[in-house]
Amino acid sequence: MNPTDPSASSTLPFLPFALPEIGEDDIAEVVDTLRSGWITTGPKAKRFEADFLAWLGDAGDDIEGLHCIAVNSATAGLHLALEALGIGPGDEVITTTHTFTATAEVVRYLGADVKLVDIDPATLNIDPALVEAAITPATRAIIPVHYAGLAADMPAILAIAQRHGLKVVEDAAHALPSTSAGARVGTLGSAATVFSFYANKTITTGEGGMLVTRDAELARRARVMRLHGMSRDAFDRFTAKVPSWYYEIVAPGFKYNLTDIAAALGIHQLKKAHAFAQRRAAIAALYHQALQGLPVILPPSGPAGDLHAWHLYVLRLAPQSPLSRNALIEHLFEQRIGCSVHYTPLHLHPYWRDRYSLRAVQFPHSQQAYDAMLSLPIYTSMTDADVRRVCAALRAVLG
Ligand SMILES: *Cc1c(COP(=O)(O)O)cnc(C)c1O
Repeated sequence: MNPTDPSASSTLPFLPFALPEIGEDDIAEVVDTLRSGWITTGPKAKRFEADFLAWLGDAGDDIEGLHCIAVNSATAGLHLALEALGIGPGDEVITTTHTFTATAEVVRYLGADVKLVDIDPATLNIDPALVEAAITPATRAIIPVHYAGLAADMPAILAIAQRHGLKVVEDAAHALPSTSAGARVGTLGSAATVFSFYANKTITTGEGGMLVTRDAELARRARVMRLHGMSRDAFDRFTAKVPSWYYEIVAPGFKYNLTDIAAALGIHQLKKAHAFAQRRAAIAALYHQALQGLPVILPPSGPAGDLHAWHLYVLRLAPQSPLSRNALIEHLFEQRIGCSVHYTPLHLHPYWRDRYSLRAVQFPHSQQAYDAMLSLPIYTSMTDADVRRVCAALRAVLG
């Protein structure tokens, strides 16, 4: 079948850009929760936190002293981490323009300011040299993003943070599982690491996230602020031996707790995380192989021996590509292939552009990548034939 023949393509099933893989085990655990009488934060959320900690250590990484705090989104987790670190008005936090707005918006929730910097064009991750150049006396923290699932240069970022007395909060929304210099993201030397379980992430609870920290005080504060600033959560009160109605409000907290319905999904998704990661890596390898020789820049695989989570497969068109990025996306869509762009850099969004008077020339590498990039379909239930179909559609117009 000729994949460029529109009459043929119209009969092909639509290939989505991302798809969660929900198994009978996930469904059974959710049903068990629904039948249990306890559907909000309770025993399943506690179990998911304990399982997540064990999972972080399952390859022998040091999990001593780590706390895992389940939240209803990664955005919530990032907000809680920065709040617990005392970030507020007058403070500056450095992050990359090449990310989703959640990474930066949490800084603004707290009235602090965002300093956006450009990426390293080889990795599409935040450039540590630019981080160091952006530091001012007001800088308090750095938020690296492990873009697409490739760990940012954490040894360099942690060294800069140490030299300047800054906190590092990792946006690990794409990085389950990823490693940096051989160590699992989540166990590195940062103040906090935040994972996302949004519907299209590498494991999902529909909506959800996990805040991981070695800082006992940060963990204590985040647990209290996760649920209205209450001194005891509802499940503690429910299961306590003493009368259960009493609690104290110690701060104006948030409503960021993860429900047991969502945690039930997470428990089984986590068990499959390594198998999911292997399938994603196999799909990335197939793409790498099949797209050789086209006028494209393949995504970097990262240092040998390190894990890349392959949340995204971000292809860039080379300057000699006969087609623009937008035209290519339209072509793929006509072939009933979904793809996306991750992300329109923050400096191009009206809010960020206007708030900080940003211009594209300040971020040449992110801008250049943005103009040329698209995210190809990658998800665990995608078959080898699906991958070949995408590659054939690309080859038809680029080859
Ligand atoms: C998905 C995502 C987030 C937000 O995650 P939620 O769980 O949806 O809040 C933050 N940062 C990046 C880079 C993301 O991709």
